[in-house]
Amino acid sequence: MKVLKFGGTSVANSKSLSKVIEILKSQSEPIVVVVSALGGITDLLLGMLQLALERKENFKDNLDEIEKRHLEPIKACIPIQNQSGIISFLKNHLNELESRLDAIFLLEEVTVKNNATIASYGEILSSAIIQEILKYNGVESVFKDARELIQTESNNNRDIVSEASTIKKITAYFKENQSKVVLVPGFISSNASGETTTLGRGGSDYSAAIIANALEAKVLEIWTDVSGMYTAHPKIVTQAKPIKKLSYYEAMELSHFGAKVIYPPTLQPLVEKNIPIVIKNTFAPEDEGTLIDGNASSENGEIVKGISHIDNVALLNLEGSGMIGITGFSKRLFEALSDEDINIIMITQASSEHSICLGVRSEDALSAKEAIDQKFEFEIS
Ligand code: ADP
Ligand code: ASP
Ligand code: MG
Repeated sequence: MKVLKFGGTSVANSKSLSKVIEILKSQSEPIVVVVSALGGITDLLLGMLQLALERKENFKDNLDEIEKRHLEPIKACIPIQNQSGIISFLKNHLNELESRLDAIFLLEEVTVKNNATIASYGEILSSAIIQEILKYNGVESVFKDARELIQTESNNNRDIVSEASTIKKITAYFKENQSKVVLVPGFISSNASGETTTLGRGGSDYSAAIIANALEAKVLEIWTDVSGMYTAHPKIVTQAKPIKKLSYYEAMELSHFGAKVIYPPTLQPLVEKNIPIVIKNTFAPEDEGTLIDGNASSENGEIVKGISHIDNVALLNLEGSGMIGITGFSKRLFEALSDEDINIIMITQASSEHSICLGVRSEDALSAKEAIDQKFEFEIS
């Protein structure tokens, strides 16, 4: 059993979907196929939500674009006499989406629930359309809604996966259903009350990893628009090249620091069961890609495998000779930020103890500075 995940660009339109179909046809063993929303759709959905919350009259402007984007692959890949069912599915969901946006616009209701419900339409639509396209292009598949497989619970206002119940649901389903191809929407999940939740932006990678873990899959293949994890962001650094082999730990470091090709939480479920991941290019399937597993091997004994980066980071420096040898400074500094719910990305302290430097997101910089100034008002004065 293998798990294959196809990202937004791989399922963006009829042209890329024809590549996906070829890849699926070449598989010889049972597979679970996890799909993202068509590329860019989640952004369009969340853009409309934002406009509705800001009470901007043009909040429904993206609906036409969303409809057009989904109709294109339907019209190009499904015989005309078989299109009506899936087109009415699309229209019904778009009407439902429009009603939800109207309600949000009228009620000005900002909730985490709205966010997940609106964002979920991307994967709900893509998975239904892709299943229909597969059916008319020689790949029989069974559809399973991820909200019936992946359960989340709320922890500090974040939805995290309830591991035990998720594993139970996945193993129970696959014990009963041994189809050769099972198609599952990525990203979406539900909580114990049955409400739709999500696994966070880029979360389809994580959905696939959770399923691979529960089924103890032989491998997880992440199919995307580049030929593996590169030595640097390939769209910024033109000399970057794919890395053949990485350990879980190395991949985790690179992905946490901005190599978007893998969503950071994805690796944990795989490490747990020692399941290898291969990152492959949907548009160049013959390329080797990157293999990530538990073995730390290195071509030519190199130590540094790649460089990744994140944008919009601010550095805050607290310094002064009054800090040297005095206990409790760091505690108060971190407390000042945690009281304001500001996340710290990075910390350094020189052994001279003369300064502590913190990295926070740029948008948090001003409130972080104010909180620190207040906490250390006495020392600063
Ligand atoms: P998908 O839609 O398939 O999930 P993503 O856009 O989430 O794809 O991730 C793939 C993108 O990650 C690539 O197109 C590339 O621009 C970006 N990326 C950033 N850093 C790296 C890196 N080090 N190696 C590979 N891709 C990277
Ligand atoms: N569609 C979701 C997003 O854009 C999840 C994913 O693509 O992995 O964040
Ligand atoms: Mg992604």
